[in-house]
Amino acid sequence: MPTMSSTQKRDYYEVLGVNRDASLEEIKKAYRRLAVKYHPDKNPDHPDADEKFKEASEAYSVLSDQDKRARYDRFGHQGVGSQPFDAADFVDFSDILGDLFGFGDLFGGGRRRGNRPVRGADLRYDVSISFEEAVFGKELEIEIPRSVTCGTCKGSGAKAGSSPVSCTGCGGRGQVRFQQGFFAVSRTCPQCGGSGQVIKDKCATCNGAARVRETRKLTIRIPQGVDEGSRLRVGGEGEGGINGGPAGDLYVFIDVADHERFVRKDYDVHSEEELGFTQAALGAELKVKTVWGEETLVIPPGTQPQETIRLRGKGVPFVDGNGKGDHWVHVNVRVPKKLTDAQRKLLEEYAELEGDDVKERGMLDKVKEFFS
Ligand SMILES: [Zn+2]
Ligand SMILES: [Zn+2]
Repeated sequence: MPTMSSTQKRDYYEVLGVNRDASLEEIKKAYRRLAVKYHPDKNPDHPDADEKFKEASEAYSVLSDQDKRARYDRFGHQGVGSQPFDAADFVDFSDILGDLFGFGDLFGGGRRRGNRPVRGADLRYDVSISFEEAVFGKELEIEIPRSVTCGTCKGSGAKAGSSPVSCTGCGGRGQVRFQQGFFAVSRTCPQCGGSGQVIKDKCATCNGAARVRETRKLTIRIPQGVDEGSRLRVGGEGEGGINGGPAGDLYVFIDVADHERFVRKDYDVHSEEELGFTQAALGAELKVKTVWGEETLVIPPGTQPQETIRLRGKGVPFVDGNGKGDHWVHVNVRVPKKLTDAQRKLLEEYAELEGDDVKERGMLDKVKEFFS
């Protein structure tokens, strides 16, 4: 690697590819472009990228600083050559690079996975059930594909009788530090991926991954009273944890099919029933279907169209088991479309008693009826 003495140094403006009167903004832009292009993380196969990155970083550290730039403009490399890199510049770098690479990656903060136990991911399982199943609950057998700790190697990834060894690349720390121009960079060790350990003899079952896919059969109990959009949490049935961490949870999302007769609102069930207009006027008893079977609905005399009549406690049982909703019958009153002569006579009499002005039966209606 060539050493950079001050006499061999390229001109900083030339390094960044900017004019001598470039604004700070232009200098920043130029440096960003070069930093992205030559960042060692992105150029593992180009050893001179590292050199270029350092060169650009140095040029930027000088040209972005008003005082240093003024000295450089007057005295060249001699004016700034011996300036040590200081903390203030570090802040500048994090400022300009932070959004490019992420602080964690560049400065080694918070990225280390190592052998810390990690909780497994939660899983989602969608299930469709019928209206009645939602009302009364259901036992369901489901199959969950998930990844769990390999049973053969107990999660070490190493073949039986062997165990992972400390990584030589990072001395088991999972991170490597190296000097990047002016500042030290910590990076996830490429040899061990940050775990600090490497596996020489891989477990045959999981091929060293320490985890395997499995399909697990589970019997879950969907409780009575669940509704569209309800979700059940089944603790510990998600993805297996890593490094001895706890498993995630399984969330069962419930989709409830529509019913041809019933509409549900919370714990109440609604349905429509048709009544003859005489039943509405005189009162009646009606057999109506509820989720609990057939019930007798008492229609009081004088029931109006669109009235609702409640069947108390004939709705959906509460999830917690403490009670039930109601069943509401919405009444539709049927008006006859055709009348026999006898029916007509009676209704005309009724209308007369009521004082209602009704339409006289004309000749045209009689003719129509004859041909119909
Ligand atoms: Zn294994
Ligand atoms: Zn390592």
